[in-house]
Amino acid sequence: MALETELVEAIEAGAVNPQRWDLEALRAAGLGPCSETQIEEERVSVLRRQSARSRDVTKFSLAIMPTSQCNLACGYGGQAHRAGNMSPAIEDRALARVRGAIQRLRESHRSLSIGWFGGEPLLGFASIRRLSEGIRNLTSEAGVAWTSHMATNAVYLSADKARILAEESHLRAIEVTLDGPPTVHHASRPAKSGPQETFSRIVQNLRDIGDSSACDAIEISIRINVHQGNMASTPALISILEDNGFATPRFLINVVPVHDWGSSHAEGKVAAEAFQQWELELCNDLDLRGFTVSLFPTSPIETPCLATSLGSELIATNGRVFTCTEEVLSPGLDPSSSVGHVTLLDPALPRPAGTYDSWSEDLLTSPTAPCPSCAVLPLCGGACPKQWREGKTPCPTWKGTMPQRLDILARRLGLEPRDHKEAA
Ligand code: SF4
Ligand code: SF4
Repeated sequence: MALETELVEAIEAGAVNPQRWDLEALRAAGLGPCSETQIEEERVSVLRRQSARSRDVTKFSLAIMPTSQCNLACGYGGQAHRAGNMSPAIEDRALARVRGAIQRLRESHRSLSIGWFGGEPLLGFASIRRLSEGIRNLTSEAGVAWTSHMATNAVYLSADKARILAEESHLRAIEVTLDGPPTVHHASRPAKSGPQETFSRIVQNLRDIGDSSACDAIEISIRINVHQGNMASTPALISILEDNGFATPRFLINVVPVHDWGSSHAEGKVAAEAFQQWELELCNDLDLRGFTVSLFPTSPIETPCLATSLGSELIATNGRVFTCTEEVLSPGLDPSSSVGHVTLLDPALPRPAGTYDSWSEDLLTSPTAPCPSCAVLPLCGGACPKQWREGKTPCPTWKGTMPQRLDILARRLGLEPRDHKEAA
C-alpha cells in the first residue's frame, strides 16, 4: 500500500506519532475511513493500472525451460517430465525473441527479467550457460540491464555453481523447496534414481551459498509445500533449519499450501481455513525465533502473473511458447494451450494473445468477474485467473489473517499489538 505524500509529510513533521496512533490522528493525516465512492475509485484506478501493464509490450519477462527433466518425482507436482534438454537450434530462436524484445524496450525501462524453470533447470546447466552468454552479448550491445531467478530443488546447486550463475546469468534469486525433515522430504520428493540422501545435500548447498561472499547477490527463499502428509512434521523441519543457521535475514521462509497443479488433482490438500490458522501460528513462531518470513506483499503488484501480461512469455524446452507456467508440463494440455512455436513466430513481434491477457480488464468491466470488492486487490490482483476459471477460489492465505499478520509486523517494529475485539 502506498502512503499519500501528505501522510508521509505529516509523519515527518510529527503530526502523526507512531507511538500514539489513533483514529483521529490517522483521519487528520488523510488515512481515515474511506467512503464507498473513494473505495470504488481506488478499485477502478488499480485495475486500470494493471490492465495497462498487461498490454504493455515495452517491458519483457521471459521464463525459459532449459530442460523438462527432473531428478525428483514429487507426489503433488502434477508435472509430466520428459526426456531432453533445449537444443542449440531452439536456444538460438529463444535468443532471437530476446533480441526482438530488447528492440521494443522503452527508453525509461531498459531492463529484462529472466526466469529459469524446469523440470529441474540445473539438469540443463550447459544450456543455461549458452543462453546466458547470448543474453549477455545482446544486452551489453544494447545497454540493457538484466537479472535472472531460478526455481530449483538445489540438489545440484553447489556454491561454485551458484557463483557461476551469479556471474554469468546474473542470478539474483533462488527458490528451493524443502518439504519436511529428511524422511518426510524424501517421501514427498523422492529421487528418481533410487533412495538418496538429498535433504542433507540441499541443506549443505544452501549453507555454502549463504556463507559464500561470491553469492551475496543471490536472495535465497526456502519454500515449504504443505499437505496433510507433512503438516505435523513441519516444526521438526523448522528446528533443523534453525540448527543450521537459517534463522537470519539471509534466508526467506515461504510456506505454501499444495494445490491442484495444471490439470492434475493434488492429493492431501489441506482445507483452506484450517491451513490459514495453522500457517498463522507457524509464521508467528518463525518470527519469534528470528526467521525471515513473508507475511504479505508490501507493494502493489503490476499484474498477477506471467499469463496476464502480453510482455511476458515462457519458452518450453521443445520451443513451444506458453503464457501460463502450469500449462507447460501438464499432461494433456501440451501443445493445445501453447500460443506458438519459436521457429514460427516473428521474433520482432510480442507473443500472440493468450487466454488470460484481458484478466485485469475483465475484472474491471465484467459484472460476473471475481474479486469485486476485495480490499487486498491492489496487492493480489486476483491471484490466478486459471484457478478462477476452473471454479476454484485462489485467494492467498494471508488474506484471511491480515489483522494478526499486521500484529506480527507491529511487534517486529517494536509496537504493542492490541486485542482485535477491543480494537473493534
Ligand atoms: S494463470 Fe495461474 S497458474 Fe497460470 S501462471 Fe498465472 S498464476 Fe500461474
Ligand atoms: S484475495 Fe481473492 S478475492 Fe481478493 S483479489 Fe485476491 S483472489 Fe481476488
